[in-house]
Amino acid sequence: MSRVYNFSAGPSTLPESVLRRAAAELVEYGSSGQSVMEMSHRSPEFEAIAAECEERLRRVMSIPDNYKVLFLQGGASTQFAMVPMNLMGENGCADYIVTGQFSEKAAQEAQKFGTVNIVASSKDKNFTYIPEPKNIQFNANASYVHLCQNNTIYGTRFPYLPDTGNIPLVADLSSCILSEPVDVSKYGLIYAGAQKNVAPAGLTLVIIREDLAGKALPYTPTMLNYATHIKNNSMYNTPPCWCIYMCSLVLDWLENEIGGLEAMKEINVRKAKILYDYLDHSKLFKAPAVPEARSIMNVTFVTGDPDLDKEFVAEAAKNGLRNIKGHRSVGGMRASIYNAMPQAGVEALVKFMHEFEKSHS
Ligand SMILES: *Cc1c(COP(=O)(O)O)cnc(C)c1O
Repeated sequence: MSRVYNFSAGPSTLPESVLRRAAAELVEYGSSGQSVMEMSHRSPEFEAIAAECEERLRRVMSIPDNYKVLFLQGGASTQFAMVPMNLMGENGCADYIVTGQFSEKAAQEAQKFGTVNIVASSKDKNFTYIPEPKNIQFNANASYVHLCQNNTIYGTRFPYLPDTGNIPLVADLSSCILSEPVDVSKYGLIYAGAQKNVAPAGLTLVIIREDLAGKALPYTPTMLNYATHIKNNSMYNTPPCWCIYMCSLVLDWLENEIGGLEAMKEINVRKAKILYDYLDHSKLFKAPAVPEARSIMNVTFVTGDPDLDKEFVAEAAKNGLRNIKGHRSVGGMRASIYNAMPQAGVEALVKFMHEFEKSHS
């Protein structure tokens, strides 16, 4: 068996030790006589798995007690609707910062449930930057402010968190959750599709400040009401059991092999620096994102020639560097270097870029 370096934006690479452990436990989990995939979600064995997963997430992210952790389905895209249905409330309006396709989609979806104010956008420069805080004015009657903290497609991230005063901040952390410490108390709600940095596809994490739940719009379907899932401990219906188990293994890896989020951040910053340092000195490749807003999870770059980009992607794949093609809407290349991408993978990519540059100059 030989594993490639997989730079996919999501679903994405998982720690090899986690995969091996899952493989070892696949047919029989502990002495339960069954696979986690076969267990009743109401069984004591699975309840213990889910409880342990939540405890680990709370510990790793230092989640305060007045926040609930939910294990949902439907991806981040379902949160684009669930957030406004639950939080838009009587004010009927919310502020959105648009810094990419996902936050734009979130804003569009929210318009179905109330008034959406786009308080800032970086669309004018194809989302290559993050608007400055001094240029953003929030509406006093906004029920919440929504942003996407790391823009997976464009390779940018917020270098700051806006001060929204008493207005709850809602953030899509799909492609940066667990990549570095965050102060959860600064948010009203955090959501993330798990398939980038946490687990296989099928699980959506929601971390919500308790007092924000229970005010859903009257027509909100039961399954889309945060209060339903809070009341039922994410077990109103069958949860994504296998993904929760995998999430727990990844958290165990993060805590005990990596050493927590501070250590993870250090590793991620170092990996990203290797790539950006090379890009800053390259004559062939350019990074479109402005330096202040560069993502440490998704690194985008181009040659400026779409045919050459294509050749690079194909050649890289032949060299065991897979899924390096940029998002279909922007072209070029994108290296997603999430937590589980080893530094050796980034070094192999840079080495290959260097050789490609030499043979194409
Ligand atoms: C991938 C991604 C999404 C979409 O997630 P789904 O789980 O496919 O719905 C939304 N926001 C961000 C920031 C993403 O990276």
